[in-house]
Amino acid sequence: IDLHQESFSDKDNDIDKRLRPLSFDDFKGQQQIVDNLRVFVQAAKMRGEALDHVLLFGPPGLGKTTLSNIIANELGVSLKLTSGPVLDKPGDLAGLLTNLDERDVLFIDEIHRLSPIVEEYLYSAMEDYKIDIMIDKGPSARSIQLELNPFTLVGATTRSGLLTSPLRARFGIKSHFEYYDLKILTGIVKRSAAILQVDIDERAAIEIASRSRGTPRIVNALLRRVRDFAQVKGNGRIDMEITRFSLEALNIDTHGLDEMDNKILRTIIDKFKGGPVGISTIATAVGEDSGTIEEVYEPFLIKEGFIKRTPRGREVTDLAYKHLGVFRADGNAT
Ligand code: ADP
Repeated sequence: IDLHQESFSDKDNDIDKRLRPLSFDDFKGQQQIVDNLRVFVQAAKMRGEALDHVLLFGPPGLGKTTLSNIIANELGVSLKLTSGPVLDKPGDLAGLLTNLDERDVLFIDEIHRLSPIVEEYLYSAMEDYKIDIMIDKGPSARSIQLELNPFTLVGATTRSGLLTSPLRARFGIKSHFEYYDLKILTGIVKRSAAILQVDIDERAAIEIASRSRGTPRIVNALLRRVRDFAQVKGNGRIDMEITRFSLEALNIDTHGLDEMDNKILRTIIDKFKGGPVGISTIATAVGEDSGTIEEVYEPFLIKEGFIKRTPRGREVTDLAYKHLGVFRADGNAT
């Protein structure tokens, strides 16, 4: 099963909604981002102004959409949701923008995938809350300027490297999401279990958290599957035994690494003697885009100590050899 997938079944999506934190207090982790946003939101409310535009970047599943919803909740306004690839023409964007009420939040996911014309169109909307639209066709066609209600654009991206600098410069608040640490993830497992009304041991919660690749979305997906096993194969309670059994049945890596993580490590070991090797060479060998490796996969592998960055490229560590059960080519057993 692919635990990174956004959409499970409809039922799972319903559950997903129940598990989403709705306020700053409910949102655990990313402490500095949240603390700063609390201040900016409060200040905007005190002045009765729209919050400055916010750019959220970081790997998938870390809570960018969730936090955008929270920002709108905390501002007491509504949120409209769209994504870069969906906004095909300037007209699509104009439709959304003209429907925003005062101080509303417009969330654009995958904002790095906006087409250049739409992006350009966004600039004046962000800067002066104005857009130009064309009316009429043929010889009488002319453009008129429309005033928009002041609004907040929240843009999310997994690939900050692909954002153009003019767009980036138009965001007053920029936040970089980090992978979550074990303690916070364990807290999220327990919170979700409580919402799902399932009993869980401390150790089992830690086990699920440690297999979740630092990612709340994966925590929740794993918890739901372990809950199924507990219900059918156990007594409904989630303890260490049923957790181990389920994770084994699901083929979940002991460190929570996914297929691409393992492929990257194995490739560096098998094809490049453990490195050092350049990121673009790795990218070609595993068939993934080098920016995605750099911004999505590598940060986790470095954080967990599987890869080191050296001046001559990436090198795998002893931990990676051990994890894959491979002996070093130089004969030193690790
Ligand atoms: P992204 O937009 O970064 O891909 P989402 O906001 O969709 O990630 O988060 C995925 C799921 O993980 C959400 O449905 C939510 O239930 C859960 N989640 C994310 N961040 C947190 C958090 N800090 N605390 C608790 N649950 C979280």
